[in-house]
Amino acid sequence: MNTYDSQVAVGILEKEGFEVIPEPETGEDSDGNPMLSEGADVVLMNTCSVRQHAEERVWGRLGMLGKEKQANPHLIIGLMGCMVEEHREKIFKRFPQLDLMVGTRNIKELPRLIREVQETRRQVARIKRDGISIEYSEFTKRDSPYHAWLPIMTGCNKVCTFCVVPMTRGSEVSMSAEDVCREARRLVADGVKWLTLLGQNVNSYSGHAPRTTHHESWPVARGSWSEPFPSLLEMLCQIDGLERISFTTSHPSDATEDLFRVIARNPKISRRFHLPLQSGSDKILKRMKRLHTYAEYKAKVDRLRELVSDISITTDIIVGFPGETEDDYQATKRALEELRFDGGYIYKYSVRPGTPASKLPDDVPFERKSQRNNELLAIQRVIMGEKNKALVGRTIAVFVEGPHPENQGEWFGRMDQDKRVIFPCEEDLSGKFVKLELVELHNETFRGRLV
Ligand code: SF4
Repeated sequence: MNTYDSQVAVGILEKEGFEVIPEPETGEDSDGNPMLSEGADVVLMNTCSVRQHAEERVWGRLGMLGKEKQANPHLIIGLMGCMVEEHREKIFKRFPQLDLMVGTRNIKELPRLIREVQETRRQVARIKRDGISIEYSEFTKRDSPYHAWLPIMTGCNKVCTFCVVPMTRGSEVSMSAEDVCREARRLVADGVKWLTLLGQNVNSYSGHAPRTTHHESWPVARGSWSEPFPSLLEMLCQIDGLERISFTTSHPSDATEDLFRVIARNPKISRRFHLPLQSGSDKILKRMKRLHTYAEYKAKVDRLRELVSDISITTDIIVGFPGETEDDYQATKRALEELRFDGGYIYKYSVRPGTPASKLPDDVPFERKSQRNNELLAIQRVIMGEKNKALVGRTIAVFVEGPHPENQGEWFGRMDQDKRVIFPCEEDLSGKFVKLELVELHNETFRGRLV
């Protein structure tokens, strides 16, 4: 979602005459210190507060930018994103060098707010508490002509005890199905072939569609309106020219039989399903308020694999949640070995202030969290390697994203399962589906040959 918000911000700023430059990689001042603001009058950081580490990096960068501002008092420093929603005006007190804070529902006001700081040289904050933070804009600066992010809902009504999202993004709000389909058709008319639907809890989407299906630009919906996300997927599948649809991130309790069946009967829907497990221990799942047991989660994975045989399932795991004993950890380890995910994001638990879990003692020592984290990462690497090796020799459909950034004459693409493939070709096939034989595997990237 943050990537999309950044793309909206860049598009709006450029439309208003600002020149947006990429973050400098090697800028240094005359004493050899790194310069984050090199070449810029305004530095904007779009922030995420899901993990402590990401927040700490922002605090560190604000410190560095404060020093740069001493040498260049006209520099404007701004923050956007979830950290603004979480900490609000308190950040101004801690970092007086900060000029601007813009909430996730206020992105379109950025140009005006930057000019306000330029004119008044006062700290300016605009953080709206209600409404929807999704901004469909024809000016959004996509990083690919063929792929676009498409947020369809934001916020979350679940209460996972470790998570800041309900605090930073608020309750669930969904765009109407009509707005989503209209935006999808606009993007397709602009050359987009692949959409990734976004939402903090995307499969709990609850936008409604008009009751009549006679609207001339409205695709006829099959399926039941009691399951709005599967119905939305089916409607999007009917858009001519749209060739692939993926979505992230899903909650297991909203991963329904209806959804699995819609995936199974629509080849346009990506064969990658990201389904966070978080823990294999029912005791820890209950403490996390994840609303499912391990057995219930496993039953969904089994059913999805049964209905969609080529599905690739990835997950998130947190180790070291408060109260995690050796037995709880062993249950998570067994779950990884049993479910054999195609990929896993495995993190050490870190306390997020204000969350319900922050009231629990963070009682798993850091060294033990690290050791459990490393062990699970090693197990997952082996499983992923085995699953990927089994694909070598197969012929598979790949969407060509563009030229390889370094190797001339090579192209970069993704399979339906979202796995990366590089292949040689003399012709530019960007934006097209090609058939490739997978001939080799290097780490997590395949090499392919056109067939
Ligand atoms: Fe956070 Fe996801 Fe749980 Fe919602 S479902 S509270 S976004 S972890």
